Amino acid sequence: MIDYKTEEEVEIQRESSLLVGKTLAEVAKLIQPGVTTLELDKVAEEFIRDHHAIPGFKGYNGFPNSLCTSVNEQVVHGIPNNKPLKNGDIVSVDCGVLKNGFYGDSAYTFAVGEVSAEIQQLLDVTKQSLLLGMEQAIVGNRIGDIGYTIQKYCESFGYGVVRELVGHGLGRSLHESPEVPNYGRKRSGLKLKEGLVLAIEPMINLGVKEVKQLNDGWTIVTADGKPSAHFEHDVAIRKGKVLVLSTFEHIEEVIKNK
Ligand code: MG
Ligand code: MG
Repeated sequence: MIDYKTEEEVEIQRESSLLVGKTLAEVAKLIQPGVTTLELDKVAEEFIRDHHAIPGFKGYNGFPNSLCTSVNEQVVHGIPNNKPLKNGDIVSVDCGVLKNGFYGDSAYTFAVGEVSAEIQQLLDVTKQSLLLGMEQAIVGNRIGDIGYTIQKYCESFGYGVVRELVGHGLGRSLHESPEVPNYGRKRSGLKLKEGLVLAIEPMINLGVKEVKQLNDGWTIVTADGKPSAHFEHDVAIRKGKVLVLSTFEHIEEVIKNK
């Protein structure tokens, strides 16, 4: 069943999505060689609670932390640990919050220090694929139009588009119907209607599309050990133009001033 949101509900949810963007900006300030993902997690959790919200991931199906931090070949669902990040690493930081009964869920992949041109392109293309996919998220289009657009763009660079993990509806639950694959056929799947709120989140691999799960029961890694990038925005479906609920603005302000 799909929970279509009223205008008022979308406005409440936007607050949650914006708080995620601000939390990720706090994280961005700390990202440099030597910092640990547990340190990032601690700052994020404090920031979320200081803003009268609850970390959305902590305790979700038993997940231990407030952030998913996925380094290099880790695709998503990495568990924060006390290993320092190194120059040239990339780290996907995925964050969820629950505030006023609604979830926000957004992710950004950061470069740690200086990354290679090859990896920078992976980051740029993955983020751009998200923006292109989001443009398709309007009344009258279908779910498949989003995935088709993301897949076509990323595959034109020879990248692998992860199949096993997908975007999702978002609202009073962290994961609602429908699923939002990052691959697919044009004009296929659910027809998009006003009030639908989606988390769109391409997970794009430098190498093959195949992934596997580590023995920790959470971390997803690429099958070939090559790096993977992940960006996620929350959007509400509207006529003509997508309404973006989350933001990278604060994050990119921090990155620009580093
Ligand atoms: Mg997420
Ligand atoms: Mg998500």
